[in-house]
Amino acid sequence: MTSFPATARRVRDESLSPRRRRSHLRDCLYHFAPYGFHATWHHLATRNRIPGDIEVDPPSLVRALGELETARALVLARAVAFAAQRRLQKQEGRRVPTTPHPWDSWGCHDIAYCPDPQKHPTEELSIVVERVLDTYAAGVDLAGRCLACGDENPRPGKACGNCGVLPGGYGNPV
Ligand SMILES: [Zn+2]
Repeated sequence: MTSFPATARRVRDESLSPRRRRSHLRDCLYHFAPYGFHATWHHLATRNRIPGDIEVDPPSLVRALGELETARALVLARAVAFAAQRRLQKQEGRRVPTTPHPWDSWGCHDIAYCPDPQKHPTEELSIVVERVLDTYAAGVDLAGRCLACGDENPRPGKACGNCGVLPGGYGNPV
């Protein structure tokens, strides 16, 4: 499979047909999809007004890609910092942290997984991703509130009634 940057370049490649470019944008979600594949696609398409007939507005693909790239950059920066911190802790003979981190257990995927593709946070992707990462970094008790919107009435094992994010992430319902 090609890398995210290589796939992103094809989305911007105006020598390709809009349909091909849209297909490459979807391929980007195999590398990075904070809400899960379907919910992230629905979010990008809605927020960036990607039309059903893509010939009408090909630049909408580039807008959506930009939103996705901004959020991905946040996760990558944290992942790099986290890896460096772990290396240092190992050198010092300390055991690795016991707190799970989204990028550690799930990679770049599903850090705010939404089981219903049409029910997801409506804010810009990077804002939600940053809030989720900050919540983890602060060591907040995930059982007491939604990690994406702060809603304090999570239903055990069910998606947040307010924003649609599943507490605990994909496959890890709290
Ligand atoms: Zn929520």
